[in-house]
This record gives sequence, C-alpha cells and structure tokens, in this order.
Amino acid sequence: MPRYRGRFAPSPTGPLHAGSLVAALASWLDARAACGTWLVRMEDVDTGRIMPGADQRILAQLAAFGLTSDEPVVWQSTRFAAYEAALTQLCQSACAYPCTCSRRQILAKLEALGRLPERFHAPVYPGTCRPAPLTPQALFDKPGVAWRFAIPDGQPVVHWTDRRLGKQEQDVEAEIGDFTVKRSDGLWAYQLAVVVDDAWQEITHVVRGEDLADNTARQIVLQQSLGAPTLSYLHTPLVLDERGDKLSKQTGAPELPVDDLPGKLASAAQALGLSTEPGAVPDMLSRLVAQWQAIHPAA
Ligand code: GLU
Ligand code: ZN
Repeated sequence: MPRYRGRFAPSPTGPLHAGSLVAALASWLDARAACGTWLVRMEDVDTGRIMPGADQRILAQLAAFGLTSDEPVVWQSTRFAAYEAALTQLCQSACAYPCTCSRRQILAKLEALGRLPERFHAPVYPGTCRPAPLTPQALFDKPGVAWRFAIPDGQPVVHWTDRRLGKQEQDVEAEIGDFTVKRSDGLWAYQLAVVVDDAWQEITHVVRGEDLADNTARQIVLQQSLGAPTLSYLHTPLVLDERGDKLSKQTGAPELPVDDLPGKLASAAQALGLSTEPGAVPDMLSRLVAQWQAIHPAA
C-alpha cells in the first residue's frame, strides 16, 4: 500500500464558505488519522470563473484553523503542459477526438434520436463527431474545437465503494457519453486536470463533498485510460442552508469569517457527524482526529 496522500482541491472562485470548510476539514482529518500527507491544490483552470485574490484568501482562512499544506501549494494554471501531454497520450491511443458540436446541435441530435435528457439531467453526448472506426488523432490546436474522451468500446459499468456512501455504480457510456477533456474555449476540463494532477501528486485518497460523487466514475475510466492508479474515495455530507439548498458560491454562500474559530470548527465537525466541545483549536483538532479514525478507519 503506498503511503497515504490526500488533498483539498478548492476552485478559487471565491473565499471558503461554511460548506467548503467541512470538505477541507474532512480531508485533513483523514490524512492526519492515517499519519499521511495532506496537500492543497488550487483548481484554477476555469479562468472565467476564478476570483482574483480568492486563492490567497482561502489559504489564509485554512491557515487560521491550522490547516496548512504539507508540501508547496500547486496551482493548476501552472500545469497546462501536463494536461496537453495527457491529451496527446489519449489521442495517440485513440481515446480522444475533436468535436465541433454546439450544445444546440447536441440537443437537436438527441431530439431526433428520441433521447432528450430528462429534467435536471445533463444531455448524454450522442457521439456525433466520434470517428468510426476510432483511430489515433493528430492533436493540433484548432480554435473553437473541443476534445472528447472516447469511452472505450465495451466499457463495463464502473463500480466503486465510497467509504461513506457504500457501493456505487455508473454506466458512464449510457449516462454520460463521451465527455469533454478540453473545452472549445481552450480551457482544460476539470475531469482531465483532476485525474492528471491526482496521479502526478501521487494522491491515494480523495475526500471531498458529496456534490462531486457523480464525477468519480468518469475519473476512474480516465485513470484507467491514462494508466493511472484508481484511488480511494470518501464523499462528505453537504452543508445545507436554511432553505435546504446546498451551500455554494453559486447560491451566494457567505464568506466564512475568521472569527470564533472554535465555534466554526465545532459546526464543521458536527456536519461530519463528530461532536466536540469548543476549546483551543489545536486541542479540538486532535480530539477530532481520534473520533474520525474510529468512524472512518483508513481504507
Ligand atoms: N475543484 C473542485 C471543486 O472545488 C474539487 C475537485 C475535487 O476535489 O476533486 O469543486
Ligand atoms: Zn461533436
């Protein structure tokens, strides 16, 4: 078993809110409980959505709670050459192809096929641009062209066991279709960047919010195509606001102020099913590590 390496990978689209502290705390507790290494990685690939200065704000907020990366923080915006290399590798093994479909064209095609998505479901890409037979593609930068991952023929349903949610499965081919690894606006897709960097940083355990659980099967298939190891996953409960909606930057979750740290830590712990009396933050953290270890023994 390789030594435990975990990470917290925020997108710096805004400062931490109460929900993102829960995910950060869970990944930190899991790493500490396993006597492992905990890293912070800034997922700033979506340049249109990042907020200038949010990365430093997040690091300062984490540091206020004593959560600091064991190794230098990595910014994904410095990693484009590695994503390009991964896309080249996929292209050479006929696992990626260029796609010029607009969302409208995808929906029109799905309508013609009688496969329009149900309400609140993302459209399953109908494979319009998928070459038949799949052949290696030359990779050259054409503006306005997206690149899709070609789900391998005969890809079985992906099964994995989440350490909190239990047995999970997804038929990536039927439920997602060939998904984007590089967007038509030239930006790298989250799925590719996260898989490349988890492998490069030798991450062994992913602990993140439950809203990301649906990405896991896609990431496992990509890992397999890139020859990267499959990781252990634990998805944490989401924090809901008074209306029962997920706390997120999109729904205007307020910045977590760095005051009353013991109180904030106690609430984050409670969201994870841990109970703690407010006290000095370092003491609280060590008691939480012990509790976490009992509930989520290292997998
Ligand atoms: N950057 C992603 C987010 O903040 C998380 C990625 C991950 O943990 O896999 O939603
Ligand atoms: Zn297309």
